[in-house]
Amino acid sequence: MRYKIVAGNWKMNLNQQQAIQLTNDINEYLSNHDLARQVKVVIHPPLPYLANCVNYISEKNSTTFGVGGQNCYTQASGAYTGETAPEMLKDIGCQYVLIGHSERRKYFNENHSLLAEKVDKALEAGLTPIFCCGELLDIREAGTHEAHVEAQLSESLFHLSKADFSKIIIAYEPVWAIGTGVTASPEQAQDMHAALRQVIAKKYDKDTAENTTILYGGSCKPANAEALFSQPDVDGGLIGGASLKADSFTKIIEIMTKCVKTM
Ligand code: PEP
Repeated sequence: MRYKIVAGNWKMNLNQQQAIQLTNDINEYLSNHDLARQVKVVIHPPLPYLANCVNYISEKNSTTFGVGGQNCYTQASGAYTGETAPEMLKDIGCQYVLIGHSERRKYFNENHSLLAEKVDKALEAGLTPIFCCGELLDIREAGTHEAHVEAQLSESLFHLSKADFSKIIIAYEPVWAIGTGVTASPEQAQDMHAALRQVIAKKYDKDTAENTTILYGGSCKPANAEALFSQPDVDGGLIGGASLKADSFTKIIEIMTKCVKTM
């Protein structure tokens, strides 16, 4: 099912009190505003605060407002010191998990096959994977960015059955735009999202491609969200820096809602 999603990746930021306050502020915003039916909001707090944040989402907002992990492991339990099972995320009330964020690929050497396994295990645990993909600047400059991102999907997702692939959310995040203040132009985002739909259609079918939620991530903020979200193949954003403050994040939610209503 294709949704419009505004997801916040808090990375390794905020303390407990700030995390609860931010969750509370978003919850309050959602309690006081009507979102379009297909708009969903997700936050990805740091692991130690996840369970607490889940508890600050009111019953009324629970179908619109979800919480996700920033990572998970490939095993349900066992002697894996420091790791988190997808089942544990599910157990504390998470619905989503980020898989393959460029920072995990870069700093923790996560490769295609590990990511494929994480996707499988997250699905088995009943979580919705938000699969991140995107190219480095040199790849963009060489003009091979579409082939690169298509390969990321093909290596880590295309082993899935059509039914399982339909549960995946994709976040296209050009690495050169993450945390840099440089954003992809709306046209660059649209071109990549359209290209991804084409490869999905080729692998599965047109319906599957049309029903896949594809988010854009990389320096998305209130000032550029409308131009990005108005693109026909951009279904919302995975937001880093601008998700750490309630006013900028809720502004982006407001922009998403407005874009849906005018589509
Ligand atoms: C991210 O890390 O997923 C991200 C998009 O970060 P930022 O919005 O800060 O570029």
